[in-house]
Amino acid sequence: MDYYSSQISNLIEELARLPGIGQKTAQRLAFHIINMPEDQVESLSASMISARKNIHYCKCCYTLTDGDLCPICTSDKRNHGIIMVVENTRDLAAYEKTGKYEGIYHVLHGAISPMLGIGPADIRLKELLVRLQGEVEEVIIATNSTLEGEATAMYISKLVKPTGIKVTRIASGVPVGGDLEYIDEVTLLRALDGRVEL
Ligand code: ZN
Repeated sequence: MDYYSSQISNLIEELARLPGIGQKTAQRLAFHIINMPEDQVESLSASMISARKNIHYCKCCYTLTDGDLCPICTSDKRNHGIIMVVENTRDLAAYEKTGKYEGIYHVLHGAISPMLGIGPADIRLKELLVRLQGEVEEVIIATNSTLEGEATAMYISKLVKPTGIKVTRIASGVPVGGDLEYIDEVTLLRALDGRVEL
């Protein structure tokens, strides 16, 4: 990319490192940024830096937040006795968008995958077990219906059952191999309502 000045090439290269951004899109974005008003570019870069610096995991549910605890964990309008276990913060956001789920969450940040060398110790399972020592009525397993998601669900159900806490799995209305975040709200709610006890 010698035909661009090195500054433009650098910007394109940095943008192309982002997921889902190929060379062409990176070029288009780079030229767009160069033509943006300077204050807009400054506010964009400032919000990226501040998000990276200030956002961390909630100490209770491990979703991303900027406080010690996230707004869901601190809300007294939520039922703290029901914990929905999801693979990532995007899945949590998908359920939050429905506006119908009243419990709280636990974000694993991954799923067990022997193929990728991801074991139970690599996701936030220990932290879930600690939470189960509190007053919990039900654990809803809402991991994806992929091979990894199902393996993780099985593993969690085996961990939780001996505690006597009710364990349920969201219904398989969710298409196999489907990522929760791409599924529409109606399907998500149907999956939640139709959850079955394990
Ligand atoms: Zn939280």
